[in-house]
Amino acid sequence: MQFALVNGERSEARPGERGTCETCGAEMVAKCGSRVINHWAHASKTDCDPWWENETLWHREWKNLFPEECREIHHVSSDGEIHRADIKTPTGIYIEIQHSPMSDFERIAREKFYKNLIWIIDGRGFRKNFDIYHMLPAPESELAQDLVWSKAKRSMQGAAAGLFFRVSANQDYQPGATKETLRGGYIESIHTIKDKIEETYRGHHQYDWVRPRKTWLDAECPVYIDFGDDYLVKLEVYDETALPCIRFVSKKKLLHDSVTETSADSIASCFYPFP
Ligand SMILES: [Zn+2]
Repeated sequence: MQFALVNGERSEARPGERGTCETCGAEMVAKCGSRVINHWAHASKTDCDPWWENETLWHREWKNLFPEECREIHHVSSDGEIHRADIKTPTGIYIEIQHSPMSDFERIAREKFYKNLIWIIDGRGFRKNFDIYHMLPAPESELAQDLVWSKAKRSMQGAAAGLFFRVSANQDYQPGATKETLRGGYIESIHTIKDKIEETYRGHHQYDWVRPRKTWLDAECPVYIDFGDDYLVKLEVYDETALPCIRFVSKKKLLHDSVTETSADSIASCFYPFP
């Protein structure tokens, strides 16, 4: 942990210091050295917050993007359960910074507990299993209403490059077809409409996550993957065909919105032109 109470004050770990845990009141010892980031650890095994994972440099760098009073914040549920969130913004959004894989059971419990929550997960360990493919037009654009995309897979190079059916062009083939029902017809390649897509583009792409960490695909709260770039990758569902997609969201945008919006779902929901 980054903070413990020393003489009643929230303090960072310094060599040789002792303090108490803000969550459980147990004794904490400062762990400082060249091989670890300075942190506090419980002096003896305790049943303090079981959801807490050991802090990595990656955790610490994320937390440090927020003011100190937003980090390691307790939340107590109505039945007295207590946990410590990585970040709680001044507008009431909880942010959990997650490095390790997580079970469905724990993911669901944490979503129920915090409710107004976003996940930021460390993607650096599975980047090679995560392909990001062609651009998609903004889902609310007129263009998008007419297109049914072939789902991209690493093993299907064509679809990964961008193939689609048009609802309007396939009414002879399948009269009355809509986006939900159209299942085939005259197939087109993205190259014919690339300019039009670029006009409406705001960060959506097809992707394939080979051997995915499935719990994140089922999450109820927004999931942002950090691959170590300036842009985070948000997992989304694109349209009424339930096409999975990702959206690039800049870290700056996420940081800005998380302290101005009051609802986790509103983060990155309001758009400015994408650079
Ligand atoms: Zn504790």
